[in-house]
Amino acid sequence: MDVPVIFERSRPGRRGVRFDAHHDVPDVRLEDVLPSHLIRSTPLGLPEVAENDVVRHYTELSTLNYGVDTGFYPLGSCTMKYNPKINDWAASLPGFADVHPLQPDSTVQGLLKVLHALEEGLKEISGMDAVSLQPAAGAHGELTGILMIKAYLKDRGENRTTILVPDSAHGTNPATAAMAGFQVKVVPSNDRGGVDVAALRSLVDANTAGLMLTNPNTLGLFEEDIVEIADIVHQAGGLLYYDGANANAIMGRVRPGDMGFDVVHLNLHKTFSTPHGGGGPGSGPVGVKKALEPYLPYPRLMSGDDGLHWDYNRGKSIGKVRSFFGNVGVLVRAYAYLRSHGAEGLKAVSETAVLNANYLRQQLSDAYHTPYQRTVKHEFVLSLTPQKNRGARALDVAKRIIDYGFYPPTVYFPLVVEEALMVEPTETESKETLDRFVEAMQAINREIDESPELLHEAPHQTVVRRFDEATAARHPILTWTQLQQEG
Ligand SMILES: *Cc1c(COP(=O)(O)O)cnc(C)c1O
Repeated sequence: MDVPVIFERSRPGRRGVRFDAHHDVPDVRLEDVLPSHLIRSTPLGLPEVAENDVVRHYTELSTLNYGVDTGFYPLGSCTMKYNPKINDWAASLPGFADVHPLQPDSTVQGLLKVLHALEEGLKEISGMDAVSLQPAAGAHGELTGILMIKAYLKDRGENRTTILVPDSAHGTNPATAAMAGFQVKVVPSNDRGGVDVAALRSLVDANTAGLMLTNPNTLGLFEEDIVEIADIVHQAGGLLYYDGANANAIMGRVRPGDMGFDVVHLNLHKTFSTPHGGGGPGSGPVGVKKALEPYLPYPRLMSGDDGLHWDYNRGKSIGKVRSFFGNVGVLVRAYAYLRSHGAEGLKAVSETAVLNANYLRQQLSDAYHTPYQRTVKHEFVLSLTPQKNRGARALDVAKRIIDYGFYPPTVYFPLVVEEALMVEPTETESKETLDRFVEAMQAINREIDESPELLHEAPHQTVVRRFDEATAARHPILTWTQLQQEG
């Protein structure tokens, strides 16, 4: 199937809508109302198409999309689970969707109540004392959290310069620490895939501002020595940051606050069910312990005699990190998700996420190598080094799985595993779906010996075949004009 771009459907003079001359609207010449330097000298270059051309073009394109509403999406670390439609329904209610952030607080009390209740719910789930809903993504929550740690230490007259980050952390952790102006020290893993506690001991010193821990880590493993790790860092005078992006593994079971952590972020667009991918919108609320509360971004939601209001008068706050109050549509979805599940339902979510991951890992372990023989949480990592030695790389397997109707798992991440293939089934998938995936992965493993070219040339069933990824990244052709000139 060859789908033309909309510019190729363009015919001179073709229109979707034509306006007759309106006798009640005066004829205005651009020259009379705009300064000449603001008037275009060349045409805009829009495609000239009829209404049905537009509708058919974009509807056709939409059928080429693969998403959680069309099939299994086991993209490790990303929690691409099915998102119940009731959340979208709630977010589209006029009291949420048709209000403006500049409206007086008194006119949006219903919305503010929902945001307040969400803060309370997230405090309960994370074990923290205060929450800000403002950060727009997980990495943004990390930056907010680390800037708060920095402000807190500075207030105490301490000039600590390093943040410790285990080598199994999510890549955004060291990036965040560096962006906030810290030096990053990498803590190695032990042979069970957890933090090497002896190495951690030797790395902490009077310069340690804190530790950022992804838990479960990117291998899907829960840190066995979490209490000891927290103690070591606290005793050295550092603070503890918990990357809680993958809370679907622990929700309702354990809480970062109870494990001794001072700051946590949650990814509402993962755990709390907002459709994501393709860049947003997301939401990465941060939770903090009492000592860090004064540093939270402003405005904070406060209750007074007249109900809830935004308080901008926060002396020690690190400032605003996003316009207005955060991505409110995502926040409403998250609240709908919390309330429609209830406490027992949320426990069932994490239980099923963990059960699905361990079932899948076990079912795949005959054909694929699992480097750490441990029970995992919400995801697991395979090493395809044996497959590579037989002639097919992790990338080939990932491309081939597309032909079987699945979205490929994450590849070559985390870096601590060679030929990594990282699988996160999520809690919303049935046993039948998981079994179909296992059968496909087993069939692909046989194909490596029987017909390796099937893998090397995969995918075969898609509109676009295999990219030249290096050129695509270094020299992307993104517009029709560019394509005409260079394509
Ligand atoms: C997804 C993820 C992040 C980053 O979240 P974004 O919303 O993509 O910025 C950080 N840490 C972990 C463990 C994640 O899985």
